[in-house]
Parts: sequence; C-alpha cells; structure tokens
Amino acid sequence: MLRLSINRRLNVMMETLEKIEAQLQKSMPRFEWELRKPLIEKILKLKKEKNVVVLAHNYQVPEIFYGIADVTGDSLALARESVHRQHADAILFCGVHFMAETAKLFNPEKPVLIADMQAGCSLAESITGADVRALKAKYPGVPVVTYVNSSAEVKAESDICCTSGNALAVVQSLKSDKVIFLPDGFLASYVARQTEVEIISWEGTCVVHEEFTTDQVEAYRAQYPGLKVLAHPECHPDVQSAADLVGSTAQMSNFVAEQPAGAQVALITECSMSDNLALAHPHVELVRPCSMCPHMKKITLEKIITCLETFQPQIEIPQEVAYRAKRAVERMLEITAPKKVVSLPLAATV
Ligand code: SF4
Repeated sequence: MLRLSINRRLNVMMETLEKIEAQLQKSMPRFEWELRKPLIEKILKLKKEKNVVVLAHNYQVPEIFYGIADVTGDSLALARESVHRQHADAILFCGVHFMAETAKLFNPEKPVLIADMQAGCSLAESITGADVRALKAKYPGVPVVTYVNSSAEVKAESDICCTSGNALAVVQSLKSDKVIFLPDGFLASYVARQTEVEIISWEGTCVVHEEFTTDQVEAYRAQYPGLKVLAHPECHPDVQSAADLVGSTAQMSNFVAEQPAGAQVALITECSMSDNLALAHPHVELVRPCSMCPHMKKITLEKIITCLETFQPQIEIPQEVAYRAKRAVERMLEITAPKKVVSLPLAATV
C-alpha cells in the first residue's frame, strides 16, 4: 500500500515536471533546462513536504514563474491572494521585500519567507516613516496615498495604499481636493494628469523604468510598423506619452491576451514580464526592450532551496507598525474590485 502511494506520488511528480519542461523549453536551451530541472524538482518536493505556498511576481524569471509558483500576478493580485492562504503552513514570496511584508501583514501567525532579504526596491528605499510624518506636519489634514512599493513603516504612516492599476481610483475615492501621493513621482504625475485633485508628490523613482527613453520607443516603432507600445506608469511621463497604453502589469497582461495572431507588442517594463507573457501567448510577437530589476533577480532557485530547507530568512514586522500598515492596505482592497489572478496549478499538484 505504502509502495503504491509512493509510486503514485512519483508518477504525479514526473507528469508535473514534464508539463513544466514543455513550457520552459520554449524559453531556454535544453542544456539550461537540464541544469535547472533537479533544482525545480527539489523545490517541488520541499514545498509539498512543508506545505508551503509559493507566490511569485510577474517580474520573476520563467523558471520560478512557471516552474515553482502556485500563484502569480502583480502586487495587487498577490496582496489579495496572501489573504486567502490559510491552508498553507508558510508562504514563500518570490518577489521583493516590500511584497513579502504585505503578505506578512495578512498572515501574522505564519512564517513568510523570502529567499534573499536584500531583494529591495529603489522606490521603497526612497522614503522613510519620518519623511511621511514631516510631510503630514507640513500639509496638515491632507490624506496620504502610498504606492504599495513602500516599506511597512511607510505604509503605517499612510491613510491608504494603491497600486499602479488602481492609483487613480484610490485618489478619487478620497473626495479630497488635495492628496499627498508617495513615493513614485512619475506615477504621481500619471495620476495628476487624469484628475482635478491637486497631487503633492515625492521624487522616488524605479531604477528599472526610469531607464527607458522616447528614443527607444521611436526606434522600435520605426523597426516594427504597427507595433503596439505598452508602458508602465513608473516610466518617465514622456515615455508614457509615446505609448499606446499606460498600465499596470496586469493591464499589460490582459492587453496581450486579447491581441490577434501575429500582433507585435512592446512592453516598456521589466524584462521577465515579456519572457513570461511570450510563453503564455505565443500567438503574439513580443518585442523586448529590456531593463532588468537587480532586486527581483536576487531571487534564484538555489537560494529558494536553502530558504525552504532552513525556513530562513523570515519577514518580521513590529506589531504596532503591522497593525497600521495593514489598515492602509485593507482600505485599498475595500475600494477596489477583485482582479483576475493567474493561478498555475502545475507546481501545486505535486
Ligand atoms: S522593478 Fe522597480 S519598482 Fe519593481 S521592485 Fe524593481 S526597483 Fe522596485
């Protein structure tokens, strides 16, 4: 009986690996797959043994995104998902530190793991809780809207959070003629262009998106007539103006899915987003201007194995900070409708 059970589990594992291989071999040469296969196999076993759910951001590399994740998505989708993970004994977050912190806010009793504590974010590091308190003293009574790309300490000083996908809706929901919008200056200007509300902004930038230029966009358009250009609102306003659509990674994903066969699309965002969408939608040609997030790429299969074996490092947030930060995220979730989450059952079935 025991042998049958073990054989059955081995068969399921083999089938799962074959499915993952079929998906990933489109994005990497065979020898690379052969190098990664034992690592992925080990992670699938470890997360099954330890009942760990793996959440992965859209900017993670394909071997993490398709190889080991149970749920993938943008910041908002993953924030929502982390709320509903009661069945898991622990959460492994494949993304950057502020994202794992958000998962911890909603799972205070549960270990929330991140494979590299140094996986930070230039936006999150551009501002501190003390900076927010100084702004509130300067503009008394003005509500503070903070992009989720921020530390729990900064969220705790804020009235409400937002993502790139719901920033405008969040600002307008406050019914205030003035808001403090932190910390991304380019996202703030994107919102300001679409509302009468006066926006007081901060000068934080994303090191990935600020790299893109209008010259690049024009060069791609010259090379690919009919190209659709999608830009993230963390890009410079001139780049946003040069794009056909400005939107979050979820909005980009939906746009690509709806394109007819043969359409050519350029995503002005982090490299892995294009790699992952190209695998999901082979009918679309994704032109790939590439700017890589050094923080997202700190998460590797090797570090994930160590993290699952040791259950370290874990996210910790002081209780009084966690309580207030959670309220700011909850207020955002209350005013925004649930978005579609891309669930990948492959890894989860092992
Ligand atoms: S892509 Fe930009 S905003 Fe996202 S984690 Fe990296 S530095 Fe932060």
